[in-house]
Amino acid sequence: MVTTHSLGFPRIGARRELKFALEAYWRGESSREALRATGAALRHSHWQKQAALGRMPVGDFSFYDHVLDMSFTLGNLPARVRDFSHDPLDNYFRLARGRSAPETGAGVAAGEMTKWFDTNYHYIVPEFDADTRFGLDASRLLSELAEAQAAGGVPKPVLIGPVTYLWLGKARDGSNRLDLLERLLPVYADLLDALGEAGADWVQIDEPALVTELDAAWQHAFRLAYHRLAACRPRLLLATYFGALEENLNLALNLPVAGLHIDAVRARAEAAILVDQLAAHKVLSVGVIDGRNIWKTDLEATLDWLEPLYARLGERLWLAPSCSLLHVPVDLDSETALDAEIRDWLAFAVQKLDELQTLARALHEGRRAVAVPLAQNRSAIAARRASSKVHRPEVQAAVEAVEPSMGRRKSAYPERARKQADWLKLPLFPTTTIGSFPQTEAIRKARRDYRQGSLDEEQYRDFVRGEIAHCVRQQEELGLDVLVHGEAERNDMVEYFGEQLEGFAFTRQGWVQSYGSRCVKPPILYGDIHRPRAMTVGWITYAQSLTRQPMKGMLTGPVTMLNWSFVRDDQPRAATCRQLALAVREEVLDLERAGIRVIQIDEAALREGLPLRRSQWPEYLGWAVEAFRIAANGVADDTQIHTHMCYSEFNDIMPAIAAMDADVITIETSRSNMELLDVFEDFAYPNAIGPGVYDIHSPNIPTVEEMAALLEKAAERIPAERLWVNPDCGLKTRRWKEVIPALANMVESARIMRARSAAEQERRMEG
Ligand code: GLN
Ligand code: ZN
Repeated sequence: MVTTHSLGFPRIGARRELKFALEAYWRGESSREALRATGAALRHSHWQKQAALGRMPVGDFSFYDHVLDMSFTLGNLPARVRDFSHDPLDNYFRLARGRSAPETGAGVAAGEMTKWFDTNYHYIVPEFDADTRFGLDASRLLSELAEAQAAGGVPKPVLIGPVTYLWLGKARDGSNRLDLLERLLPVYADLLDALGEAGADWVQIDEPALVTELDAAWQHAFRLAYHRLAACRPRLLLATYFGALEENLNLALNLPVAGLHIDAVRARAEAAILVDQLAAHKVLSVGVIDGRNIWKTDLEATLDWLEPLYARLGERLWLAPSCSLLHVPVDLDSETALDAEIRDWLAFAVQKLDELQTLARALHEGRRAVAVPLAQNRSAIAARRASSKVHRPEVQAAVEAVEPSMGRRKSAYPERARKQADWLKLPLFPTTTIGSFPQTEAIRKARRDYRQGSLDEEQYRDFVRGEIAHCVRQQEELGLDVLVHGEAERNDMVEYFGEQLEGFAFTRQGWVQSYGSRCVKPPILYGDIHRPRAMTVGWITYAQSLTRQPMKGMLTGPVTMLNWSFVRDDQPRAATCRQLALAVREEVLDLERAGIRVIQIDEAALREGLPLRRSQWPEYLGWAVEAFRIAANGVADDTQIHTHMCYSEFNDIMPAIAAMDADVITIETSRSNMELLDVFEDFAYPNAIGPGVYDIHSPNIPTVEEMAALLEKAAERIPAERLWVNPDCGLKTRRWKEVIPALANMVESARIMRARSAAEQERRMEG
């Protein structure tokens, strides 16, 4: 029989049970025991769903983040959270969120968060310094292994490998984190032995760093690590995913492990080389089901490819999804309201595992044994290819009519900045926010009621208007300079737009974890994109009618819509992105015509689309930046374009960011203590910048002094005339009682900066 396995299962629960349990615990409304019980119940249910697999993953569950789990397993905790509480779970949340639970007492700085390879999942960055010591705490893995054994099925513990663990982290003191490998390996050896002792015959050890460009020192680290671990008890399945091994292929081939998993969706061609060269005792696990997208696998085409492989490898061939299923929703069966035609083209985690079983049976027993599922699959694949829902000639024509001039502003930034200053009349260090304000329970309820029909159109409109009015009043009272309407009408920054565009479909429960308890429900972009009518103009002009301060119109950019959706795999991403850009452009021009002359186009996810290998960056950045420019740059000089990016370490893409040519860019910087601004010392960013001074991912309320200190740091790198003052990101996950004092402090910190700069000016005049 062909061994089937999965690299990991979504943790959040088909109904987001984990999210609700976590948030109740953090609010102090439920006990630690209740939270632990929810975790155990979820793990159990996930194993049941995977029971048909040859091996099911253990240790892929996490209360917040699997990288943070690994830091705890390895005893790598920064001093600021060590021994804070006797309960390891509270220490864990303290590092994850800056607070434990219930949310009382003093906070600490939360661990830095960054995105997991090229996904929209964010992990907590391991912190190192030259003195870092490790110490094994295998308790989580061992107890989950015991649970899995009791649940039946054959468990396979899943770990992040030692080299990737170091690769994911940061040395705070500038030391070389690879120097820690010698100290780290004995802990891994003990961990593997402990798992072996407890009955695990195979352990999946994830080393996705192998699909990135590694220098000689990192390559050497792989050899050193796996030679050292070769004597451990369990057999190791070295898992790579998200791309091709390329120049690391020989390295991976020759590591002394018992098996190798590759992403055969993104790097199918490498399988052939591996089959030829893999040592005769090794297992080759091919990830043939796309763990990053929601389309049905073309099973017959996959079998055409797999059958010769199986003929050669026999039992040494294992089948799996390409990567952990963390990145797709749990179960398509929840989607009863989805258009039946489109639904038939899709597969979520549970359906992907079914596909896997069908493939395995077809290999083992012949295609005849699975004739019915194969026939169903064939007709779904053919229907999607031919559907008139997918292809719209008028959209294709508009894309072909795009000219380069559509992506260019009329004048260069200095000229535009003058014209904008003339009417905006903003003070130095102008303050603004990133768009959303707290999404209260009342707001969520109103949206729900509207959807379900218990609020009619007019009642809903009045409700949202009330929220907008409240939000505008709060901002006026706080003394903010450029206001926003607060985004009360939006559930999600992509879904909101996708719902109004043709070519997108929506799920009810298609949640995917973004970080901690935060989930997103990516739209499914299945067809050519068309904007039937204006999407935001009504709300924004209403908000503007309530105030004399400038109101910033708020849109999501084409690249972010692309990167945060499940997109079609039947045309290049660049082509889909350009269609989105044209739709956003029409909205920008409609806003401008309606008198909205500050417009923010969020490209929160621009960086997330970067290919893992740098050699492929220029191509991506080329079409992504062009899409933004087409969307944004049709406006008049005195219309001010803002853009916003999250979690963006964009040191390495600065020229591309500058090429977008937004008048103002707001970015996330507070958690990194303005470290991210170092780039501005080398690259003179020509336009205005708002480095975030308020970490909105933490419930902590920053003080005036903290924010002023951050601004001082920023002012060392960016001329004061081009600095804005704003939070790191939108405020929708925070509560009003946190937001009001935090923003009041922020506005005060801007006033302090203005006073300091005026005093300095005076001194200079005197001198
Ligand atoms: N305008 C959005 C908001 O404030 C931006 C969110 C984001 O960048 N992730 O919510
Ligand atoms: Zn953001």
